[in-house]
Amino acid sequence: MNKKFVGAHCSASGGVFNAIYNAQKIGAKAFALFTKNQKRWEAKPLDFKVIDKFKKALEDSKILPCHILPHDSYLINLGHPDEQKLIKSRMAFIDELERCKLLGLDKLNFHPGSHLKEISEDECLDKIAESINIALDRTSEVSAVLENTAGQGSNLGFKFEHLAHIIDKVEDKSRVGVCIDTCHMFTAGYDIRTKEVYDKTWDEFERIVGFKYLMGMHINDSKKELASRVDRHDSIGKGFIGLDTFRYIMNDDRMDNIPLILETIDSSIWKEEIELLYSL
Ligand SMILES: [Zn+2]
Ligand SMILES: [Zn+2]
Repeated sequence: MNKKFVGAHCSASGGVFNAIYNAQKIGAKAFALFTKNQKRWEAKPLDFKVIDKFKKALEDSKILPCHILPHDSYLINLGHPDEQKLIKSRMAFIDELERCKLLGLDKLNFHPGSHLKEISEDECLDKIAESINIALDRTSEVSAVLENTAGQGSNLGFKFEHLAHIIDKVEDKSRVGVCIDTCHMFTAGYDIRTKEVYDKTWDEFERIVGFKYLMGMHINDSKKELASRVDRHDSIGKGFIGLDTFRYIMNDDRMDNIPLILETIDSSIWKEEIELLYSL
């Protein structure tokens, strides 16, 4: 039996349950979604009817909650240098964790945070860890899943050491994990294009972070070169990473049983991309 659970970041426009229907249309066995408008701070609470509809649709779809990787709002910065803005981000993050729990989901994927050139990297990483501790303390069941970044602007999380620094300071290690985005990994400077460098990069990941924390992956090719520190996704096999890397991933049992999510640029070919990945 295939232990790979591939899907895409599906639109939840019109209601969170629509993400499930959209996932089914493309033959996905996993998916990601925003549980609220990702460009706004405010969201109306999830009402009981919507939650019920989501849970029923999910049961019918046969997709397991553990293969769903919700993504938080782009506005949230858990390492914000400004105290008031940091508090606003923490409140919004707690709200997102609660929304996931109401939907019966167990993970929330987020970008660690940005120092905005106002504080040091270490200070920012400490703030992020403190934010996670506060949020985990006030919520239950849902894990905080840190995504590696491309290192564009002042975004942290582009080195495995950043992820390890944060995890090290999180008190409840049972509710923290990482999601590795292949495009971000590559443009941050981690080469994965040949079997040799792929193995070397993941050995480094194991040594610094550890596969026990790997709770999901974003499967993207890259429009930008290695170590460019620019975040531009491309369709599978069309970018600078190339198809071989995705073959290594699909045949790597360290990526079994976790959501593998496409965030590639052309959603009209997601169905074909999912088929392509399974054919590897
Ligand atoms: Zn991503
Ligand atoms: Zn990206």
